[in-house]
Amino acid sequence: MKPLAVGVIINLEPSPEASLELVNRLGIPTVQISYPEKLDNPEGIARLRAALAHTGIEITSLVCGFAGDRYDDIATVRATVGLVPEATRTVRIAHVRKAAAFAQTLGVPRLQTHIGYVPDDPTDPAYPGIVDAMRIVCDDLQARGLVFALETGQETAEGLRRFIDDVALPNLRVNFDPANMILYGNDNPIPALDVLEPFIDGVHCKDGVWPTTEGQLGREMPLGQGDVNFTQWLTKLIDLGYRGPLTIEREISGAQQQKDILLAKALIESITAKY
Ligand code: MG
Repeated sequence: MKPLAVGVIINLEPSPEASLELVNRLGIPTVQISYPEKLDNPEGIARLRAALAHTGIEITSLVCGFAGDRYDDIATVRATVGLVPEATRTVRIAHVRKAAAFAQTLGVPRLQTHIGYVPDDPTDPAYPGIVDAMRIVCDDLQARGLVFALETGQETAEGLRRFIDDVALPNLRVNFDPANMILYGNDNPIPALDVLEPFIDGVHCKDGVWPTTEGQLGREMPLGQGDVNFTQWLTKLIDLGYRGPLTIEREISGAQQQKDILLAKALIESITAKY
């Protein structure tokens, strides 16, 4: 993979062949994929391998979500997302392990997820249990030679940094999504780069505007049209030394999504051309 290769986050529905062929037509060389549980069998893995070989596309990260994750508003995110809710933690850790085995089989080096709303206050009674859950996951991935990347947004940068320091395991990393910090009303993604830089090994090129209603999320926007100040953010990321993939995320579907992805790609390439 070339330094600063453009990528896009996709799922492999309706088929890995069609999804990767579309990415290929858009001229994008790398993808992050949602964990395709339906393909987690010898036949599915063979199909995916063949589609990857045919297109030459590289998977840079496996994105693992959970049945029951919901993103309707801030309270629902707090109650349902990731490894934070205690009631579903054990079954979700098992799901991460299954996804990790799939990533290892395919030679994908990295697994990432929203682990949910980690309390910003480390004296919160829920905090130690979340640290322990993260250690169980990281230990399992370490044994497979994988890193685990936390997606940013549901915490402040300082809160996430403290959590990483408290887990204190070498394969814990960050997938930096600058839009999420804004959509959740949590932090400014440009100064946050200084706080999280040592741990960033992946990013989402996504944009959005701040929430206008208490308890609601902000609105996702085409890249360059939101409050991230994307050109400044990406320039700073690169100036800090980042050379990993630049993965576009556009959470809509259909023709408009493809249009926005191509515009995002052009914007990214106009910035990276200087490097
Ligand atoms: Mg994201």
